[in-house]
Amino acid sequence: MATIAVIGAGQAGLVLSAALLRAGWRVTLYSDRTAEDHLGDRGRPTACLFGDQVEYEAELGLDFWPEASRMRRIHLDLFTDDRSLAFSVDAPLRKPALAVDQRLKFSAGLREVERRGAVVKIGAVDVDDLDRLAASHDLVVVTAGHKSLTGLFERDPARSVHSEPQRSLFMVNIQGYDMAARPEHREGVFSFLPGTLEVFWIPFFDKDVGESRSVVVEVTPGGRADRFRDVTSADEGLDVLKEIVDEVFPHESAFLRPARPTSPVTWIKGQIVPVVRKPVAVLPSGRHVLGLGDAVVLNDPLAGQGANNATRMARFFAEELAAHGGPFTASWLTGRFDEWWERGCYTSDFSNGLLAPLTDEQKTVMLAASRREDIGEQLWEGFNDPSSLFPWFFDAAATREFLARRNVGRLDVLRYKLGVGANLLAQKASRLFRRPPVGGTATP
Ligand SMILES: Cc1cc2nc3c(=O)[nH]c(=O)nc-3n(C[C@H](O)[C@H](O)[C@H](O)COP(=O)(O)OP(=O)(O)OC[C@H]3O[C@@H](n4cnc5c(N)ncnc54)[C@H](O)[C@@H]3O)c2cc1C
Repeated sequence: MATIAVIGAGQAGLVLSAALLRAGWRVTLYSDRTAEDHLGDRGRPTACLFGDQVEYEAELGLDFWPEASRMRRIHLDLFTDDRSLAFSVDAPLRKPALAVDQRLKFSAGLREVERRGAVVKIGAVDVDDLDRLAASHDLVVVTAGHKSLTGLFERDPARSVHSEPQRSLFMVNIQGYDMAARPEHREGVFSFLPGTLEVFWIPFFDKDVGESRSVVVEVTPGGRADRFRDVTSADEGLDVLKEIVDEVFPHESAFLRPARPTSPVTWIKGQIVPVVRKPVAVLPSGRHVLGLGDAVVLNDPLAGQGANNATRMARFFAEELAAHGGPFTASWLTGRFDEWWERGCYTSDFSNGLLAPLTDEQKTVMLAASRREDIGEQLWEGFNDPSSLFPWFFDAAATREFLARRNVGRLDVLRYKLGVGANLLAQKASRLFRRPPVGGTATP
């Protein structure tokens, strides 16, 4: 029976442990937090999982929250600089998505894998520990996220696109919002002002209040919405968000105005430098360990892929490891990672692609999706399986072919554009009409 030491009881570590326990492996899971500690932790990222990943967790018996709302649709609003709504895409997801508070997931998951036979050891693992573990196990896998032990894994310059953060992030989990003011929020809502900010409003199951919304704000550094840097609390950050929403997304003001944080700790701010690292690290002794999840592939959360990717990687490696049986040499592990990357690269390409300004062709696809639910559904499938967006969403010629195959011709696109132009003019006219006398304040 093969033995594995898994470092980190987070998204990748728990999925990998559960899958290998099911395959009959002896798993020792090293966690820097007890199940109780996880519950008392600061707020964790939204970590919304899309269809296939939700199903895989359920298949592994790690889905303990049947009462949590599933997200079945996404409604995206694309705004212009003058607060006008250019158009919306509203389409179903092929399979439901689910965002459960990682504090609950990691706490319950740690207890569950222990109940199934994993040996759980509590304490932060360091490089010396890794060396000892590598000597006594068939394999050591580091799934400790992007904040510790990542220095072990060398940056892969050929697969890393950025060396600077592309967005400033703010996340806050909220309750008390006015659903009646904006029923679209029963499902996921995305609000984009290209070049300035993207806001993701995700149905969320919070540790303390249950049904809630996790709001992830992605701001272009130096832009007019880059105002979260000095925020020091959930309340302060939410106030800044309300101010920005009133200015640029007035449709969301009534929904957000009565909202308050789900707790003082359920917020995050920061920046991420996306990076891909070499998957195998050589320890001072010459022994090696494998890295999975954020430890080796870290993406900006704009496309909501980190936890999904961690799950996909853990699944792929659990299947490969179980089928192979050993020995798990550095070259065998690197070879499997290269194989995984053939598909895994699309997650990074998708995440990095969304960080770039939208191309004219991408805007055209989104415009077509605003009129055709089938195209919207195909777009949203990219969150579940990023490879499904390639090449058609990222290559101009392939985009034109994609649209032609769906009987969206030039005249249709022209008609859609004229519709948007007329709609924008109507919004402008309505604002002018409502403008108060000179000396007054313009209303939204
Ligand atoms: C604002 C924000 C929103 C996000 N939203 C989404 C989203 O909607 N969808 C999505 O897919 N992804 C999202 N992500 C990313 C996602 O949360 C992460 O990519 C994912 O959790 C990574 O999984 P992981 O297993 O690699 O690491 P983690 O889930 O971070 O787990 C690492 C674990 O290892 C433990 N650990 C750390 N160091 C040690 C050590 N030395 N010894 C022992 N244990 C250790 C930690 O305590 C932790 O429990 C978001 C990220 C941010 C910042």
